Amino acid sequence: MQQAAVPASEQVREVVQAVVEVLREPKLVESPLVATNSFEAQTLRAEIIHVGRKLWERQNVDGNGGNISVRLGSRYVLCTPTLLSKGDLQPADICLSDLDGNILAGDRSRTSELLLHLEIYKANPRARAVVHCHPPYATAFAITGTVPPNGLIPEYEVFIGPAAVAPYETPGTQAFAETVLPFVQDHNTILLTNHGVVCWSDTVTHAEYLAEILDTYCKTYLIAKQIGEPLNFIPENKIQDILALKRRMGLPDARLAHFIEPASPAVEKNTELDRLVEQVVARLEARD
Ligand SMILES: [Zn+2]
Repeated sequence: MQQAAVPASEQVREVVQAVVEVLREPKLVESPLVATNSFEAQTLRAEIIHVGRKLWERQNVDGNGGNISVRLGSRYVLCTPTLLSKGDLQPADICLSDLDGNILAGDRSRTSELLLHLEIYKANPRARAVVHCHPPYATAFAITGTVPPNGLIPEYEVFIGPAAVAPYETPGTQAFAETVLPFVQDHNTILLTNHGVVCWSDTVTHAEYLAEILDTYCKTYLIAKQIGEPLNFIPENKIQDILALKRRMGLPDARLAHFIEPASPAVEKNTELDRLVEQVVARLEARD
């Protein structure tokens, strides 16, 4: 008996579902021992050490201040230990933690501010690395509870945009960790009142870039004000260009919630997608 023909749309749906299932299927869960000895962990430890050195050399951390962490797979986090300068880190100093802050590997105690990092990871899956530090110019703004105005330097607009200010809480506590939660979706860079800065990104290197960009922006703004006002601001229509770029790059910005891109490129993209879908359906229909 001949089988009833399955409609092409149904076949497309089945293929898409199968792909989604494969993508969803969890990889074999690595034990902490395997995870901490993996090539990926070794590479990430080296990146943490390199970035720690950069933070210290740029005077963005002081004493044993600041901390760095990075996601390792879906279950683990590598993070810096407590009571150690970020300029003196060695591979054995880096701790392996789970998402509840339990140390699974490493000789030293983890930073107490890992709680802050974990809240960011749990709230925003796009955050794969977090850097917390005390850069002097940005921290000076954090003491005043304000941020510099936007629209002065394109790089700041592209990579950060409006920075948020989280209220003060005692460092190292769960209450402190939760102060950033209202801001962590729309802001990759958050000032911590009377404390410092926390930045998240896809890599440790990129999270550290954000701290540098913010601190330089704060410093340059203060110098420009001393030279004299009024300051030149980037025209609003050019800011719109930057927002369109940020949307394409997948960078967060609170202004994107109200940003509507010009219609023409979207229409073109849809037409292209429609054409692609038509081709797939046509091929499936032609199949015996
Ligand atoms: Zn701190």
